[in-house]
Amino acid sequence: MHKVHKALFCCGSRPELIKISPVYHHLKTAVNISPLLCNTGQHTDLLTPQLESLNIKPDYQLDVMREGQSLDQLMERLFIQLPGIFDQCQPDIVIIQGDTASALAAAIIAHKKGLPIAHIEAGLRTYDRTSPFPEEIYRQNISTLTRWHFCPTEKARQNLLREEIQEDRIFVTGNTSVDMIMKIHRKIKNKPYATLLPRKGDRPYFLITLHRRESQGAPMIRIANSLLDFAKSKPEFDFILPLHPNPATSHMIRDLLGNQENISLITPLPYPQFVQLMAKAYAIITDSGGIQEEAPSLNTPVIVVRNTTERTEGIESGCLRLAGTDKTPYYMN
Ligand code: UDP
Repeated sequence: MHKVHKALFCCGSRPELIKISPVYHHLKTAVNISPLLCNTGQHTDLLTPQLESLNIKPDYQLDVMREGQSLDQLMERLFIQLPGIFDQCQPDIVIIQGDTASALAAAIIAHKKGLPIAHIEAGLRTYDRTSPFPEEIYRQNISTLTRWHFCPTEKARQNLLREEIQEDRIFVTGNTSVDMIMKIHRKIKNKPYATLLPRKGDRPYFLITLHRRESQGAPMIRIANSLLDFAKSKPEFDFILPLHPNPATSHMIRDLLGNQENISLITPLPYPQFVQLMAKAYAIITDSGGIQEEAPSLNTPVIVVRNTTERTEGIESGCLRLAGTDKTPYYMN
């Protein structure tokens, strides 16, 4: 009889769940590994609808989110709640993804308990600690604690080598969100639009998502005003914006964009429907990290409304264009 090793995934945000999904399901088929999931609850509203569409059921559930809490308060709740889960589960390995507070907290606790950490999406860097914030700081710290680093690209591997991470602990595996999107796209590409999408006929449309913490406040207002001008100047296009539930952005976006006829503000979509919308969009305007990886796989161009990006491969390939957050809409003419 083989010993069954417990692999504990710790995550709590929508993109983490989407990106661990192919690894989790693959490990389900292994005879001597038992994948388990701790959902920290960092994105309750966004993550719950995704669990069903990705066919994942958490084994452990935390409750760390409170309205209006600071990053420090979130970290404090993670540090209070996560160690008990580790004690209950007794994992052999902890698997984390990306650069969230949940990932960093799990890495620190696993390290303190002497557990090896595997990090998916390792090595992404802007080397600007303010952008994306706090993700750049979190991922740099995670790399110092990780045993096995799974990089999406050679460039990410080079970043880790420069940081003197041991070469034989770094593996270039490709991007799990690309695996995921190709799988979903094959399944749904010929299906009709979901009925909940507010589409009038077959007009071309821009798909928009906005949520970055470092853009909240003045940059987000500049982005929203630019979008409003753009939508007014392009009445032949629709603009579809699934609103991130974070009240820090959603109230302002509703106020500024809610009355423009060709802009539709909708609730966040389950992943398969969102993939379908991305695939058929004329272009995507976003500050999301994950969408910068997914859209090029669907051949949909992306305007990135951020000042920096760690997905420089997409810029070099011509699929992404970095537009910044100032109101300089050169791409809108
Ligand atoms: N996404 C989704 N439904 C939506 C909007 C986004 O399933 O209505 C997915 C998207 O395909 C990508 C992920 O959510 O996989 C991106 O999440 P987000 O932009 O919140 O986070 P980031 O990638 O910036 O960390």
